[in-house]
Amino acid sequence: IENVSKIYKSAGKELTVLNNVNFSVEGGSTLAITGPSGSGKTTLLGLCAGLDRSTTGSVKLNGIKLDELTEDQRAAVRNRYIGFIFQNFQLMPTLTALENVMVPMELRGEKDIRAHAMDLLDKVGLAERSHHYPVQLSGGEQQRVSLARAFSNKPAILFADEPTGNLDAETSEKIEKLMFELNRDAGTTLIIVTHDLELAMRTNRIIKIKGGVIISDDPNATK
Ligand code: ATP
Repeated sequence: IENVSKIYKSAGKELTVLNNVNFSVEGGSTLAITGPSGSGKTTLLGLCAGLDRSTTGSVKLNGIKLDELTEDQRAAVRNRYIGFIFQNFQLMPTLTALENVMVPMELRGEKDIRAHAMDLLDKVGLAERSHHYPVQLSGGEQQRVSLARAFSNKPAILFADEPTGNLDAETSEKIEKLMFELNRDAGTTLIIVTHDLELAMRTNRIIKIKGGVIISDDPNATK
């Protein structure tokens, strides 16, 4: 991320949400982004993941300049390298848990996707809920479907926005364990936005942002 700023325009007003942000993340490492509500964390994650474009500055992923790509090209990069776990799950309501996990596999033209998706649901402890629609699942279960979907391409980078935000301690622990296993076993880089300091302490590095500016960027002394 180089000199990245993001300005939202709404109702004729401009709001600078990120102001000249710079950092780079080593492949295979783990990073937590913390900071008060409204400080720009989710916006930053969206830019890093190529979901949105920065107003100025550049965002590079594995040498690919995301800002210079068309929306279709960015979607292709996301599908190939990136997994997401969103705050509000973002599952497709008209598809079952299994179908939600199968969608990105189908887009990549993979084979045997039903069996692979079932395997992933089993891994997150949801094999028995595979035919449930999102509305028939609890928040923690939806979060785990989201995780199974994010795991489907063994992503180079997993972006997680408050992955344990609304979950009980036991389910949070399960989700954290799966994320860190993915990092250890597949070398997936983890970038996690969280208010949970215990979770942040498990990562290699913590970036704090406030008012759209990085106020500290420290290796995690406990790691
Ligand atoms: P939280 O911890 O509450 O999730 P955050 O640090 O993730 O907050 P962002 O979601 O990045 O914060 O939002 C930063 C600011 O940008 C907020 O003031 C928000 O109201 C504003 N904002 C976010 N998205 C938009 C948008 N699409 N248009 C206009 N303003 C927006």
